[in-house]
Amino acid sequence: MKKAAKILIPILCVLLIAGAATCYFFYHRGQHPSKWLVEGDDAWKANDYEQTLSSLSMMDNTWQTAVPQTKVYELVKAHFASGLPEGKTQKKAIVIGYDGCRVENFRLLENSKKSAINLLLQDGGHAAFCYAGGANYPHPLRQNTDTAPGWCSMLTGVLSDKHHVTRNLEPKAVEPKTLVTSLPEDGVVESSAFFTTWTGFFFEPDSTYIPEAKYCRKNHINAKYRVGFVDDLTRRMVYAELKRKKCADFTFAVFDYTDHAGHATGFTVENPDYVSAFREEDATAAKVIETIRARKTYSTEDWLILISTDHGGNGCGHGGPSFEERITFIVSNKEIV
Ligand SMILES: [Zn+2]
Repeated sequence: MKKAAKILIPILCVLLIAGAATCYFFYHRGQHPSKWLVEGDDAWKANDYEQTLSSLSMMDNTWQTAVPQTKVYELVKAHFASGLPEGKTQKKAIVIGYDGCRVENFRLLENSKKSAINLLLQDGGHAAFCYAGGANYPHPLRQNTDTAPGWCSMLTGVLSDKHHVTRNLEPKAVEPKTLVTSLPEDGVVESSAFFTTWTGFFFEPDSTYIPEAKYCRKNHINAKYRVGFVDDLTRRMVYAELKRKKCADFTFAVFDYTDHAGHATGFTVENPDYVSAFREEDATAAKVIETIRARKTYSTEDWLILISTDHGGNGCGHGGPSFEERITFIVSNKEIV
């Protein structure tokens, strides 16, 4: 009996510790560090969503007159097609993606300590409602409010009936090409760069842009595709790129902070994890903008800076036709509508 106890007790102790560690891991998995919260963030109440959107006074339009996601493509194309303002010698553009960021988060901006959106708006920038899904609410969806179709529409200027990306992890044919490929290929810019945390863009076997990345390598197109796996590494890659003397003329960088927190614990301002993720994302993007403004050649560069999202969220998911999933945003240092 004593011998059996000598063997069993250590085994039970190990199992108990392993069980506790597993519970701790799953409890905290997806929880965003609360250090990004500011006073009052745990007291937000998710009011009637339509009323909340109507109260966002910084927007140039209403959700009923929201612009399609493809507007991002149009704005980038128009920027590079327009003439250089006086004193400028070089066009540059960046699209900063906040994956799965509900526009409702804009309620939090007035209490932000560090915010890219505030930086742009306080400096004469603009904000507008946008819609995901190919058609504005309440019209039937023309594509899922998912990550791959959404960003693909912003990068190609067309919907999934033309780019054929209807869901995540579905490779897109080379055509229609994204701005990342077409801008350097057409000689509009010298170079471009695509930074992402999500591996589903070009790291996993069925990733969206594997054919296009291969095409760029084969044809010596100056477009780089980089995955950071975690937002902390992605942002470091973006800062490093922007500090280079000859940084990419067009950069597309997508962070996952809000999408991760939304899937783990809920896409709503009532969820402190989601609020904290938004605050960190917006502060990260603020550092991206500060890095751009600190460039030695910044005074002679004509930058277009866009911030947008691929979809909102509902509960712990997205992909569907709900109001909360479809109404998104674009923020820019230049005019939008
Ligand atoms: Zn997404």
